[in-house]
Amino acid sequence: MSKPVSKVREAKLELYRKSGKIHAKAVGGKFNNLRWAVVWLTQIIFYGACWLGWESQGVTRQAVLFDIAHEKFYLFGLVLWPQDALLLAFVLIIAATALFLVTALAGRLFCGFACPQTVYTSIFVWVEAKLEGDHLARLKLDQSPMSWRKAAIKLGKHGVWFLIAAWTGITFVGYFTPIRELLASIVDFGTGPWETFWLGFYAVFTYIQAGLARESVCQHMCPYSRFQGVMFDPETANVAYDGQRGEPRNLRRHAAGAGDCIDCGVCVQVCPTGIDIRDGLQYQCINCGLCIDACDQVMDKIGTPRGLIRFASERELAGQPKPSGKRFQRRVAVYAGLLLLCTGMTLWTVSQRSLLMVDVLRDRGALLRETSDGAIENSYTLKLMNLDEMTQEFQIEVSGVPGLQIVGSSRFSADPGSIRAVPLTLLAQGGQPLSGIQPIQFKIFALNNPAAQAQEKSSFVLP
Ligand code: SF4
Ligand code: SF4
Repeated sequence: MSKPVSKVREAKLELYRKSGKIHAKAVGGKFNNLRWAVVWLTQIIFYGACWLGWESQGVTRQAVLFDIAHEKFYLFGLVLWPQDALLLAFVLIIAATALFLVTALAGRLFCGFACPQTVYTSIFVWVEAKLEGDHLARLKLDQSPMSWRKAAIKLGKHGVWFLIAAWTGITFVGYFTPIRELLASIVDFGTGPWETFWLGFYAVFTYIQAGLARESVCQHMCPYSRFQGVMFDPETANVAYDGQRGEPRNLRRHAAGAGDCIDCGVCVQVCPTGIDIRDGLQYQCINCGLCIDACDQVMDKIGTPRGLIRFASERELAGQPKPSGKRFQRRVAVYAGLLLLCTGMTLWTVSQRSLLMVDVLRDRGALLRETSDGAIENSYTLKLMNLDEMTQEFQIEVSGVPGLQIVGSSRFSADPGSIRAVPLTLLAQGGQPLSGIQPIQFKIFALNNPAAQAQEKSSFVLP
């Protein structure tokens, strides 16, 4: 008797995993090596960069620091202020476009190799395997009744997880509060309320996400897994099983008409999300390539060419030739073009960035004033924005009208990151050969930092 339709749907649409924890079998191979290379690289950068110092104008500070209290972001020699928000927007656009490009080319490659969720899950599972044993030992331990041995192992594992999570929280907050000061205040129980909150939040977040939730985050919480499909096309390479070559699968390799898949199930055992790639493209697949490593080893053992599971496009799997004259997918060309454009604009914006921004505003009250000895005065307000990380003394010079001079002081100081409004009066002697509105130029420069200088155009009104 056939199953009712609703039951069939329920079986296919499993919205969350009802079964227990996944204990994936460890596997070696090039994709596993690549995953660990990315884990090492990202973690050396993450745990290490906050300890780097940077000397600037005789003062050593943390090289990478989001100083929210003082509204500035230090990135080695670069100091960004809220006025540089455009750069942040460019960086976000570049990151999003790069993700789209990689997805169009090779599916969820970011998820399988560089996503923090994958990276920290790999680290936590490594700890688990060191303390509890391989996947079978872990499965056996989970199913065994509670004992002193089991309690000691589990306690040890959660203790190490907690230490990693706590250090991750400290490191993360160390990018917002100088890490050396943060550690000293943790030792003295002197962290502020926000620091305490974020330290606890990130530690608990890491512990739950990487230790307890693991692949469920990729499957049920990550929105990217749900909309990645719109970036795929028939040319997108994903981890895929070559059904034409593998089917009909058969344990007896040399049976007449058998495909290359011997139905050993190793590709399923190594999968961190517990799926069977032979069922086709699934949103749970994070493209980690571990099933490729596993299957390649099986193929080596049975003396069959590797690549039964491989990165392959839908078109390639269907055995269709690549359309002639089409070197790139259209969406790849669009994403790559956008990426190049945004990267170019970001680099140009950084190269053109001055440590001093100036606005010149003419006095709206009076166009000009004539002094008792016949000289002409015009008034302005200069807004000096000091984007350097030190207080700077600025010299102002004017040119454009013969004998034009500044009345009073021409030097002003401005604090780091501040905007200073400077009222300024310019004077030109009477009897000028010129008349009417004359273009003039302000040149402003810091006495101690040649990178902080600006030129602004304005006008001087003569009778
Ligand atoms: S590892 Fe390869 S041979 Fe074994 S079941 Fe998976 S696809 Fe088939
Ligand atoms: S099916 Fe293969 S590539 Fe996809 S998550 Fe599982 S092991 Fe990784």
